[in-house]
Amino acid sequence: MASPHIESLPAPPPLARGALRVTPLGGLGEIGRNMTVFEHQGKLLVVDCGVLFPEDHQPGIDVILPDFTSIRDRLDDIVAIVLTHGHEDHIGGVPYLLKERADIPVIGSELTLAFISAKLKEHRIRPRTVHVEALDTHTAGPFELEFVAVNHSIPDGLAVAIRTKAGLVLHTGDFKMDQFPLDDRITDLRHFARLGEEGVDLFLTDSTNAEVAGFTTSERELTPAIDHVFATAPRRIIVSSFASHVHRIQQVLDAAHRNGRKVAFVGRSMVRNMGIARDLEYLNIPRGLVVDFGKLESMPDDKVTLICTGSQGEPMAALARMANGDHQISVGDGDTVLLASSLIPGNENAIYGIINKLTDLGANVVHKGNAKVHVSGHASAGELIYCYNIVKPRNVMPVHGESKHLHANGALAVRTGVPEDRVIIGADGVAVDLVKGRATIAGRVPAGLVYVDGQTVGRATEDTLKERRLLREGGVVTVVALVDPANNTLAEPLEFLTKGLVHDDHTFDGVQAEVEKALEKATPAQTKDLEALEGIVARAVSRFVRRKYRREPVVIAVVIDA
Ligand SMILES: [Zn+2]
Repeated sequence: MASPHIESLPAPPPLARGALRVTPLGGLGEIGRNMTVFEHQGKLLVVDCGVLFPEDHQPGIDVILPDFTSIRDRLDDIVAIVLTHGHEDHIGGVPYLLKERADIPVIGSELTLAFISAKLKEHRIRPRTVHVEALDTHTAGPFELEFVAVNHSIPDGLAVAIRTKAGLVLHTGDFKMDQFPLDDRITDLRHFARLGEEGVDLFLTDSTNAEVAGFTTSERELTPAIDHVFATAPRRIIVSSFASHVHRIQQVLDAAHRNGRKVAFVGRSMVRNMGIARDLEYLNIPRGLVVDFGKLESMPDDKVTLICTGSQGEPMAALARMANGDHQISVGDGDTVLLASSLIPGNENAIYGIINKLTDLGANVVHKGNAKVHVSGHASAGELIYCYNIVKPRNVMPVHGESKHLHANGALAVRTGVPEDRVIIGADGVAVDLVKGRATIAGRVPAGLVYVDGQTVGRATEDTLKERRLLREGGVVTVVALVDPANNTLAEPLEFLTKGLVHDDHTFDGVQAEVEKALEKATPAQTKDLEALEGIVARAVSRFVRRKYRREPVVIAVVIDA
């Protein structure tokens, strides 16, 4: 399989006439911030624009965006953004792209457009939307689009077929092949087959579950386990979920209704999305079942269900706050906490920590590890193999996954007969050109992680995060030095202020001499420059603390002229 040495790839050359370039700016090498840019005849088409949720080593970051650097000079060439479905990792970045050019048409299904429009309203952006349904066609510049129904953990998902003069591309978006979905809308394999008959030149497929053998279990098979939770929970049931997992929340609502409980939605994005899903009839809520959170507080505990999510629609954030007693829901003895979502890969340790804390508070925590309360939203290996055999693509490019998922997906394509050199294992920023029916790697554009930190976008860097991790692990030492500029000596003993560093009266014994020694070596130019002197003092103190205590606090020196 063609897999690039990414570091050594040059920038791609200008695109050949009549060729199609496919550049993923996110979602290859990570689970999240999915975004793919298609270029043809001087125009660009964007498919999805999502966010990635930060991990433990990215403290203080709200969400992570795809890098728009390579398209920033060409915003006017973008003919449309196609959204395959309404999950945050596919739509969460749209407000940030539209802030750069507000009138890019946004194409999607009814529920997807409703979710993104509500999100954009919070950013005070009114999008130009184009509503499409399965089997609709739409022309966007040189791209002829056709939409295909796919089944996923959110309703109204679409795969998109893109016809260009360079060939036919089929992008699955996120999908699985549940044959008995709650909304009876299955992945339209008949249409996949028709496209296959026509000849799919490049097939972009969801890799998330490519390492999982067999077939993803039907959502309906969760009903008994969820029902059991509702039938046996002695007190409140607190359900945590992504704010967009409409199918799962329907299951919870049904179980609550069957067991005589009332339900409240908690968390802004959950309340907003469920209101939309109910209004558009993607969610069927029996009359009187859902009440306001405030009203539920006065009801008996065994009649209460709370369905909640975090501020970004991400469930673990809210649960972490509950576990730390820092949430409007205070978890207590006898409560049942139901994790109706996946454990996000990479965050397992943090999640088990949260489960332990909730258990210590007296809660019974039900999760996919101890009950059948979660199925994946993504096709497993068996389903992917079916797709390859049905579509018979000429070239394959696995998308949506970490490297290991992309490779596993590529291996499935090869097993079904796709030649190895026609399977492109890409990465974020790696441009792939489709020329005369053949896909090859053309080069690489910037595709770094762009951090949203409070109101700032892209201002927090890897250096910022490194500093934060140092602060978290080593604390901070502020040292105040009164320096006599005449002879570069300390006029008074150094003073220390610390945060997060364990110390006593003798911790800094001996450092004074080392700072003086360092100051003696200062050049005349440095002596005249307070900032340079501060650097010298800070480095001397850092060296001392590292050598003596094996700690690396952030050291801030303040030098004052004596
Ligand atoms: Zn999804």
